[in-house]
Amino acid sequence: MIKTQANCSDGNESDLIHFELAKKMILDHISAIQDQQQIPIEKAKGRCLAKAIISPINVPAHTNSAVDGYALHSSDLPIENETSTLTVQATVLAGQFLSTECLPKHCIRIMTGAPMPNSLDTVIMQEHCQREAETIHIDARHKAGQNVRIAGEDISQGATILAAGKKLTPPDIGLLASLGLPEIKVKRKLRIAIASTGDEIYSLAQTPPLGGLYDSNRYSLLAALDRPDIEIINLGIIRDQENDLLNSFNSAANYADIIISTGGVSVGEADFTKAALQSSGEINFWKVAIKPGRPIAFGKIKQSTFFGLPGNPVAVLLTFYQFVLPAIDKMLGIIDQPIAPIIKARSLEALRKKPGRTEFPRGIVRLTKNGEWQVKTAGKQGSGILSSMSMANAFIILEHDRSTVKKGEWVDVQLFSGLF
Ligand code: AMP
Ligand code: MG
Repeated sequence: MIKTQANCSDGNESDLIHFELAKKMILDHISAIQDQQQIPIEKAKGRCLAKAIISPINVPAHTNSAVDGYALHSSDLPIENETSTLTVQATVLAGQFLSTECLPKHCIRIMTGAPMPNSLDTVIMQEHCQREAETIHIDARHKAGQNVRIAGEDISQGATILAAGKKLTPPDIGLLASLGLPEIKVKRKLRIAIASTGDEIYSLAQTPPLGGLYDSNRYSLLAALDRPDIEIINLGIIRDQENDLLNSFNSAANYADIIISTGGVSVGEADFTKAALQSSGEINFWKVAIKPGRPIAFGKIKQSTFFGLPGNPVAVLLTFYQFVLPAIDKMLGIIDQPIAPIIKARSLEALRKKPGRTEFPRGIVRLTKNGEWQVKTAGKQGSGILSSMSMANAFIILEHDRSTVKKGEWVDVQLFSGLF
């Protein structure tokens, strides 16, 4: 009998690391950057807030009317089954302030947003009263205090309105503007260097010869990292030469917080990344019990965190989303929760699986008319088949200990919306 070696399709080697453990070990090594920068709020969407925002004012600043109508003393509201007639004493528009007192049995014509005149506490919507010359008639359907927005009811002065670490959204930006804050402090952008490796990999400006192929990984990563809080350093394609790899990574490590390379981390003949890094940084090479994307490298080159992702295009994206993205968010100090929602869906087909590794088939999820989420796999599942990843809208997550999924069983799916 011939002697063979364990390979990625076995999934039962003793040195495989559990997916959750690999993720935890990575996150345990990541600490948040502290550098901050002051930027105008117009540029702040998608940036990570560095310091909590304490409201300097009440919002709204003045108690005001929520509708167009008539402001009055609630003591002038009629009792049940009766009506009242009030004299219109004056008008106040938004942006004006009326300092005269409203007399008993009188009311003030008021517009939406106008400050409530002194001592008045109730507004009747204009559609709910009958106007006759300089008087209005109202019935008993109204309640004291209605249609009034109280000063500070949205935000009170001194309240913490946004927590440090929040990734700023359009409503957050509006909120900052409503507090009169033109600039805020955010975490500086995270600097991420990316490189493709391989003698067979060609840039889009070249025509690959026989045996060569276009570099897709760098473009997937460029797109995945195209975020307002990230600055990309594009290292291009690095040949399978130990010195080229070392020089490139070492110089990137002087500036980048994270270096991501793809390819060259398996046991193939040309896997120089391993050799190059073993001499320069503290890098661990892991066989993670996942499919696709088993071999990854993780560690440090100088002060930079290094991720050596597999070469196969689907494995790159999978390992990026499962390992690198949570690390990026931790490094930025982002506190917002789920990176992508995980929901339960019914599998429309049987999925073959052996216990002992976490598998991530790419799936197409849809919601049926009856409100049930269903999922089927998106075409061929090989780790080099990018077209099926492009067709998919979710990762199906088949947990480590799970065996074959029967048709109709429930599975976890991680929706791409939120990741992409
Ligand atoms: P490696 O891990 O370097 O052996 O690469 C595994 C597979 O992924 C090989 O078939 C490579 O040709 C392919 N590959 C590596 N890098 C890239 C890239 N940048 N773009 C597309 N395919 C790649
Ligand atoms: Mg290679």
